[in-house]
Amino acid sequence: MTDKVFLDDAYLRDCEARVLDVNDRGGIVLDRTNFYATSGGQPGDAGSLEIEGLGTLEIATTVYGDDRTQIVHVPAEGSTLPKPGATVLCKLDWTKRHRHMRMHTCLHLLCSILQYPVTGGSIGAETSRLDFDIEDASLADKEQISDELNRIIEGDHGVTDRWITDDELLAQADLVRTMAVKPPMGTGRVRLVEIGGGQIDLQPCGGTHVASTAEIGPVIVQKIEKKGRQNRRVRIAFAA
Ligand SMILES: [Zn+2]
Repeated sequence: MTDKVFLDDAYLRDCEARVLDVNDRGGIVLDRTNFYATSGGQPGDAGSLEIEGLGTLEIATTVYGDDRTQIVHVPAEGSTLPKPGATVLCKLDWTKRHRHMRMHTCLHLLCSILQYPVTGGSIGAETSRLDFDIEDASLADKEQISDELNRIIEGDHGVTDRWITDDELLAQADLVRTMAVKPPMGTGRVRLVEIGGGQIDLQPCGGTHVASTAEIGPVIVQKIEKKGRQNRRVRIAFAA
């Protein structure tokens, strides 16, 4: 099992860890990591591992193992692999990760503005998108949504998280009702991400976020595409 250090501190650029295993495809499993593994539309992190006695090993991406308890660091092709037990320093490609954090947090804001069911999404370092299930054609236009996003971003609202147990969640039915995404129950506890103390957005999420909305910086809605009768794809990009 890999300890997901990025859940406690999304800003941790370097992290010491130990190699637990190197799988038959050459993927490196560590006991803990600050590298986010591909999920929820957010790409896995790239970066490097500095390995005792072996030097620097480039990591192309990071994914979950088959049962999702382990995180697998995928090295660039032709790399010399470490042995289990080796000590490593995990160094994030921070420029890319920070853009993912800004984009990811911005998608929470988009959800709060467009309160329709989300059917899909994808996060990138340049642009990101969310697909909404919208029955009518009453969706606001690009400029309106852009203005609303930037107004919230400039408001510099705090982004915080807290863990609650499944039982605590069930005891607060109104909490579940205000969430855009239904919480994943069954693991015993759920991480809630709150923007503006939960007034702007409140949802269960295991992704990486910036600490305040102002850190996202100005954005624009690039386009709104019709993808099927009841599906609208909203694409955003950094404005600067
Ligand atoms: Zn999130």
